[in-house]
Amino acid sequence: MPIREWRGGPMSAMSNLRRNKPSQTGEGNGAVIPALVVVGSIGLDTIETPAARREEILGGSASYACLAARHFVRTGMVGVVGEDFGRRHVACFRRGGVDLTGLERRPGRTFRWSGVYETDMNRRRTLSTELNVFADFDPVLPDHYRSARFLFLANIAPRLQLRVLEQMRAPRLVLVDTMDLWIETAREDLRKVIRGANILTLNDSEARHLTGQHSLPAAAVILQRWGPQWVIVKKGEHGSLLCGSRGFFFMPAFPLLKVIDPTGAGDTFAGGLMGYLASRERISESDIRRAMEYGAVLASFAVERFGLEGLARLRPRDIATRCAALRRMTGGR
Ligand code: AMP
Repeated sequence: MPIREWRGGPMSAMSNLRRNKPSQTGEGNGAVIPALVVVGSIGLDTIETPAARREEILGGSASYACLAARHFVRTGMVGVVGEDFGRRHVACFRRGGVDLTGLERRPGRTFRWSGVYETDMNRRRTLSTELNVFADFDPVLPDHYRSARFLFLANIAPRLQLRVLEQMRAPRLVLVDTMDLWIETAREDLRKVIRGANILTLNDSEARHLTGQHSLPAAAVILQRWGPQWVIVKKGEHGSLLCGSRGFFFMPAFPLLKVIDPTGAGDTFAGGLMGYLASRERISESDIRRAMEYGAVLASFAVERFGLEGLARLRPRDIATRCAALRRMTGGR
């Protein structure tokens, strides 16, 4: 049964950041086309860092991406949860104004993942991945999602990313993200998804793993030949590298004195990036560069707290303030 609980909010044309208020327009029946559709995992994460351990907290690539993108545009989530998925988790998305018409609840257990960070927070070991209800999920998009112009295929099995891609009518921009597990177990399908992408984001170790190249610029150039116009390699606290038609471009990460939990930084970065792009009339490479700034800023809020806590209560003015600070640090005014 789809969970139909959308409550959206108006977009601020001035700042590209939505005011995060429930809609008063009566559009809560899910029939309004979202600007952006996101498919990815929604799950319960057990995370251990040098400082603390949290069990079964709300996570998943689509969760981070939607809570980042919803600041810019109406965002529709696609995914599946099990019978054990709490109401308070659904409420967290609903409060954020995410369109949940494409979120299904199925018999079985919710996706679970656990990982541990050593002293170097840039390095993480996956302890377990349980696909559970995602194992035989066959997403059928709500009709109003199919006309969305922007699609983010966040980290989940490439088979599911392809299923969603083929149901879209005419997406204007498709962003694809992935992970080591799929590079190892579903390389063929992954190559097909990448072929259909306008933008590919992946982290440094994944770019090396997928291409066999040690040099990240060389890996990005190879990946670009596989289909996407733009390839963005995420390098954790060292920022992100864009390879586009105007050559390379580098966006630093926002410098933080303390990182609590790096989980979801990549999904948040890509969600913020796509949210910003989906709020634009036209997209040039300069917009992609600016979008990377929003992505970096949103990711910085995500890693300051455990799980989704850093994103759940974020206000547009916090994002705008930090963007201005990052711009000053990188030589802009
Ligand atoms: P990131 O730190 O950006 O790589 O994203 C971490 C999130 O991805 C966590 O919330 C996990 O629930 C989710 N995740 C971990 N492994 C997978 C996987 N194989 N497929 C989909 N999502 C995953």
